[in-house]
Amino acid sequence: MWIVKASKRSSQTTEQDSLPLTVTFACERCTTKHMLKVLSTSSFLCPVCGKEFELHIPEKLRTEGIVESCVLCQCPVYERSDFDQKLGVSVAVAGIIASLIFFGFDQIVPAFGVLGVATIIDWFLYRKLGKVVCCYRCEAQYRNYNRNWTYPECDLGLKERYDPLTKGMTEDPTAGWRQY
Ligand SMILES: [Zn+2]
Ligand SMILES: [Zn+2]
Repeated sequence: MWIVKASKRSSQTTEQDSLPLTVTFACERCTTKHMLKVLSTSSFLCPVCGKEFELHIPEKLRTEGIVESCVLCQCPVYERSDFDQKLGVSVAVAGIIASLIFFGFDQIVPAFGVLGVATIIDWFLYRKLGKVVCCYRCEAQYRNYNRNWTYPECDLGLKERYDPLTKGMTEDPTAGWRQY
C-alpha cells in the first residue's frame, strides 16, 4: 500500500513540474481574481473593468523560471507554504468542538484522540501542499516556478511596509467618519 502511495506521489510531482508558471492576483481596480500564464503574455486587460496590466518579465524569470520580483508591480517577493489557512482553521475548530463534546460525556480518550487526528490532518495539509511565492505589495501568488533557488521567507517588517491596509491607515483613518 505504501509503495502504491509513494509512486502516485512521485508521478504527481513530475506532473506539477511541467506545469506553466502562473500568477494569481486580484485586479487592483475591481478586485476580480485572475490567473495568467506568466511567460505567455506581456500585458493583460481586465475583462471586468478594463484596467490594463503590463507584465515586467526579467531575463532570469524568462529563461530559468526564477521569480525575484513581482511581474505586476516589480516589488519584492517571499516564499511561503501554499496552505489554505481557512481550511486549516476549520479542521482545528471542528476537532476542538468534537473533543469538547466527548469531554462533556466524560469520554477522555476519544476527546484527546479527535484532537490528535485534527492536528495530524492540519500537519498533513501543511506539509503536502507545495510552496507559493507572494508579492509583498499586491499579494500576487506565483506557482510552478523554479524551486532550485533560495527564496526569502516572509519578512514582517517588509510586509507591513508594503501592506495596503497600513498605507491606508497613514493617510487619514477618520476621513470617512466626518460626515456623520
Ligand atoms: Zn478589473
Ligand atoms: Zn506585486
